[in-house]
Amino acid sequence: MTPIKNIVIVGGGTAGWLTAGVIAAKHRSRMANGFSVTLIESPTTPIIGVGEGTWPTLRTTLAKIGVSESDFFRECGSAFKQGAYFARWTTGEPDDGYYHPLMLPQAFSRLNMVPHWLARESEESFCDAVCPQGRICDNGLAPKTIATPEFEAVANYAYHLDAGKFAGFLQRHCTAKLDVRHVLADVQTVELAENGDIRAVATEQAGRIEGDLFIDCTGFRSLLLGEALEVPFKDCSDILFCDTALAVQVPHEHENSPIASHTISTAQSAGWIWEIGLPARRGVGHVFSSRHISDEQAERELRDYLGPAAADLPVRKIPIRAGRRETFWKRNCVAVGLAAGFLEPLESSAIVLIELSAKFIAEQMPACREVMDVVSKRFNATTDYRWGRIVDFLKLHYVASKRTDSAFWRDNRLPETIPDRLQELLLLWQYQAPWFHDEFDRVEEVFPPASYQYVLYGMGFRTEVEREALAGEAGLAERAWRENRTQTERLCSGLPRHRDLIDKICERGLQPI
Ligand SMILES: Cc1cc2nc3c(=O)[nH]c(=O)nc-3n(C[C@H](O)[C@H](O)[C@H](O)COP(=O)(O)OP(=O)(O)OC[C@H]3O[C@@H](n4cnc5c(N)ncnc54)[C@H](O)[C@@H]3O)c2cc1C
Repeated sequence: MTPIKNIVIVGGGTAGWLTAGVIAAKHRSRMANGFSVTLIESPTTPIIGVGEGTWPTLRTTLAKIGVSESDFFRECGSAFKQGAYFARWTTGEPDDGYYHPLMLPQAFSRLNMVPHWLARESEESFCDAVCPQGRICDNGLAPKTIATPEFEAVANYAYHLDAGKFAGFLQRHCTAKLDVRHVLADVQTVELAENGDIRAVATEQAGRIEGDLFIDCTGFRSLLLGEALEVPFKDCSDILFCDTALAVQVPHEHENSPIASHTISTAQSAGWIWEIGLPARRGVGHVFSSRHISDEQAERELRDYLGPAAADLPVRKIPIRAGRRETFWKRNCVAVGLAAGFLEPLESSAIVLIELSAKFIAEQMPACREVMDVVSKRFNATTDYRWGRIVDFLKLHYVASKRTDSAFWRDNRLPETIPDRLQELLLLWQYQAPWFHDEFDRVEEVFPPASYQYVLYGMGFRTEVEREALAGEAGLAERAWRENRTQTERLCSGLPRHRDLIDKICERGLQPI
């Protein structure tokens, strides 16, 4: 038996440090018996950090790693995120927009509210009819109060964060509290054993470092899995066309300017512009298809969006390649984060995938090399499933659009660009609204059926409704509408302003759990 005791992570971005933290927290008690986590990070290659949106899972992950939520706000320049607002995605008109909030629709586990909402033919949007969070975001409010303990919510939430600061924050915690060994060095070559496993990595500054399991968190380069083990890249730009990002950091007008507690995503002629509010600045960027517009046109659209005050701000170009490695865990090497692949950041799916991958590796850490291939097979099947579902969900935003004003939007609806499973579901959803029966059956589904409901009905999708079939549930639906109205009023009058709560957290701290 060859025990797995020395875990070597290469890369010190969000993927590297989150994975190190999750594994070290889970296996801390084994460290006295020789279990170790080493993270090697290049002192020269910078990490990706544009102002990222996350998923509510990050609350659980941070709590498990053992960090304080108040320190996370103080040290990472973080803000709350309660969902995303999609502007001009459906018709392209100025008044076109809808929310994809993080709270579930009222009565979600007992009742599918969609047919009841459709049958009412009301002017009220699906989101406002079933959930208070759109109104909370409209009013610039926080999802909790200073009296709500750390990581607990009044309204479900995730975060907006500065990935650069976040990596530094995790590094300090992992090295000081979780005994992660930090090596600042550039990996130059990867040494393979006769059986094809990785035996060691050779670094410029710290010599040769051996390991039993290597985790590739080297970002787009994919140095271990992609380059050394030659796992091919599986491109999906035939489905998701965006391949370039232009990012810019925009200072707030005043120190006390309001901070949106949701991501704003505004559709453009060949892509979309994200806007993420942090206490110190706004992170804004244009993600677009270079097959449809030039860099100059894309920058012009971005500058038009920002207005004259931002005319001199520098723009950073980031090429993005839509796709993933054909397999994620090969022999004794598993890739996490951008090294595994990347899809446009439309629904903040990258960091949540990092969390889910790290959790899987930590919980199913193979005891010895002899069982590693069984675990890697499982990991690959689960991760493959997740990538497929994320591709479907991102593509849905384009397929449900009615825009015809540019080739980008028209091309996005060509049937040959739409995955088969999504085509099947779209056909089915014309007759029954998405809910638990649509094979959303994994315990840790990245996008639950509620997400599909918010996007589809936010974008005006129509599902046929047989009114007579709803009669038996009418009382339950009526109670849910009433409960939603009451909850919306209560929360909108009781929650603090977003920036005020962040200031208070930084000053006084939340009650620790
Ligand atoms: C435009 C854009 C917008 C995004 N928006 C979001 C979002 O809203 N939500 C979200 O969840 N995600 C988003 N992402 C993705 C997110 O930023 C990344 O998934 C996340 O930061 C993790 O990156 P990483 O750690 O995999 O890679 P990186 O941050 O690139 O880190 C790579 C690490 O590897 C190290 N390294 C590289 N080569 C070597 C070597 N030879 N030796 C030693 N070390 C090496 C580097 O020094 C660095 O520490 C976005 C990405 C982009 C490009």
